[in-house]
Amino acid sequence: MAAAAFETHDAILITDAQSNILRVNHAFTQITGYRAWEVAGMNPRIMSSGRHDADFYKAMWRQLLEQGAWSGEIWDRRKNGEIYPKWMTITAVKDEAGSTINYVAIFSDITERKRNEEEIRGLAFYDALTRLPNRRLFLDRLQNALAASARNGDFGALLFIDLDRFKVLNDTLGHDYGDLLLVEVAERIKGCVREIDTVARLGGDEFVVVLEGIGADREEASHKAGLVAEKIRDSLAHPYQLKEHEHYSSPSIGVELFHDGEENTDDLIKHADVAMYQAKNAGRNTVRFYDPGLQHDLDTRAMLENDLRRAIENEELQLHYQVQVDNERKLVGVEALLRWQHPVRGMIPPAKFIPVAEESMLIVELGDWVLHHACAQLVLWADDPLRSGLTMAVNVSAHQFAMHDFVEHLAAILQRHGVQPARLKLELTEGVVLNDIGDVVEKMRKLKALGVQLSLDDFGTGYSSLSYLKKLPLDQLKIDKSFVRDITVDQSDAGMVQSIIDMAKNFKHDVIAEGVETEAQLSFLKHHACLAYQGYFFSKPLPLEELERLIADWGSKLDD
Ligand code: C2E
Ligand code: MG
Ligand code: MG
Repeated sequence: MAAAAFETHDAILITDAQSNILRVNHAFTQITGYRAWEVAGMNPRIMSSGRHDADFYKAMWRQLLEQGAWSGEIWDRRKNGEIYPKWMTITAVKDEAGSTINYVAIFSDITERKRNEEEIRGLAFYDALTRLPNRRLFLDRLQNALAASARNGDFGALLFIDLDRFKVLNDTLGHDYGDLLLVEVAERIKGCVREIDTVARLGGDEFVVVLEGIGADREEASHKAGLVAEKIRDSLAHPYQLKEHEHYSSPSIGVELFHDGEENTDDLIKHADVAMYQAKNAGRNTVRFYDPGLQHDLDTRAMLENDLRRAIENEELQLHYQVQVDNERKLVGVEALLRWQHPVRGMIPPAKFIPVAEESMLIVELGDWVLHHACAQLVLWADDPLRSGLTMAVNVSAHQFAMHDFVEHLAAILQRHGVQPARLKLELTEGVVLNDIGDVVEKMRKLKALGVQLSLDDFGTGYSSLSYLKKLPLDQLKIDKSFVRDITVDQSDAGMVQSIIDMAKNFKHDVIAEGVETEAQLSFLKHHACLAYQGYFFSKPLPLEELERLIADWGSKLDD
C-alpha cells in the first residue's frame, strides 16, 4: 500500500535527517528531469534556482524545525536548466523520542497555473497591445499617488497625451501601422520617465503619465512636470519607421498638478483632459497646463454646441454676401458667409461657432445647408442680367471635403437646383490639402470635371509646399487678409503678397486679395498686378436685400 501511494501525480522526495536524498518517485523524475540514482545521497540544494535569497531558506528551516512542516511556493531549476515554480509541502518525520529522522517533500509543478493566473491578471490590468497598465490599473495607481501626496506633502502631476491626427494614419495605412505606432509611442514615453512613474494607455491613442514626488514647492513641481512633458513631446515628434514607411507624428499634452489630496481623481482627469484639448487648439504638438479659466470657456462651448444642433431647424442661420470686384471695379461675384442669429446671445460670428461645429462634425450639416441655400440663390439670379454673371463663392470645411461622398453629394445638389456649375466656386483652405494628398487631388479633379471652380482660401497662412500646390487643379489663390492688412507698412507682408501674385501667375491661377480696406491697399495690389479684390473698401458682407440693392446701384453706376 505504501509503495502504491508513493507513485502519485505529485513528486515525492525523502531525505534523512541531514537532508541527503534517500528516495524519489517517478513523478519527481518527470518534473525535475533527475533520475533516482542521479540524486541519491545529494542535498536537494542542487535544484535551487537562485531566485530566493538566504532569508527565504532561513525562514523555511525555522518553520520546519519549530513546527515540523512547511509549505509554500518555490522556484527551482530542472536538470535542463529551466526554472519553474512549484508548490511544495515538507514534513519532518519524527521517531518516538521526538527527534527528526526523515524529511518528506511533496510538490507539484505549478507553471501552468501560474501562467493562467498571470494571463488573467494581465488581461484585467494591462493593455494587450502595449503591455502598459490599462485604465483600471491607472485609476488604482492614481488613487495611490493622491494618497501618497496627501501623506508626504509632495506634488505630483498627471499628464494626458493624445496623438495628433492618429486617425489619418489608421485610415490611410491601416490599423496594423496604427498598432506599430502605438507600441513605439509607449516605448518612447517609458523612456522619458523614471521607473517609479506610471505610464498607462487609456485606449485608442490616449496615454497618461502619473509623476510622483516632484517636490513640495508648486513652482518647482510645475517646472519639473513641464520638463518631462516637453521631453515626451519632443521624443514623440521624432520620425517613426513603421515597416517600410517613415511616419511623422506629434502629441498634444495636457498637464495638471496634484497636491495634498486637494482634488479627487475624477476632477484631476477632467482637468488634464481639458488642458490636452487646449494644447490641440493651440495648434497641436504642444504642452499645456490646466488653467481653471478654461473650464468656463469649455462650458460655453458645450452650450454653443447644443444650441447649434438646433440652429438649422429653428431657422437661425442666414447667409450674408460680400462682393468681389475686378480691376475695373466690375462686380464679378460674391462670397457667401454664414451668420448665426442666436435667440438669446444675438449675432454670433463664424469665428466663434465654426470651430465648435468643426469639432462636433456639425460642420458637415451646416456646410450642406450653406451649399443648398447658395445654389438656390444662384438659380434665383440666373435670369437677371445684373446678377446672372456673378459667381458664388462658398466656404468648404476640411471635414466636409473629407466626406467620402462629397463630390457625388455636391453633384446631386447642383442637379437638384439646376445650377450652372461654373457659377459656383468652392473656397478650400490649406487644412483641406493637408490630408491625404492623393485623395484630395482626385476629388478636386472630379469637382473640376463637374465644372465648379476651386479657390484656395486664406492662402499663405497654412503650410502648403510648392510641390503640393503644383499638384492641385485650382482656379484661384485667395491672398489672406492678414497679409493685405499691413501691405503698405510692412515690407515682408508686401513681399509676401507680391510673391503670391507671381506664384499664382506661374501656376496659371487667378488671384484675389481679401480684406482690402483702403484705397492705398487697393492701389498697391493693383500695381503688383492682382486681379480681383474683396473687402470693406467695397462693401461689408450684407444680408440678401441689402446686397441686391447694392448690386442694383452698382449696375446703375456703371451704366452712367
Ligand atoms: P473667410 O472665408 O476668409 O472669409 C473672409 C472673412 O473676412 C469674413 O469674416 C469677412 O467678413 C471678413 N472680411 C471681409 N472683408 C474684410 C475686410 O476688409 N477687413 C477685415 N478685417 N475682414 C474682412 P467672417 O464672415 O467673420 O467669416 C470668418 C470665417 O468663417 C471665414 O473666413 C470662413 O473661414 C468661415 N466661414 C464663414 N462662413 C462659412 C461657411 O459657410 N462655411 C465654412 N466652412 N466656413 C465659413
Ligand atoms: Mg472664404
Ligand atoms: Mg479667407
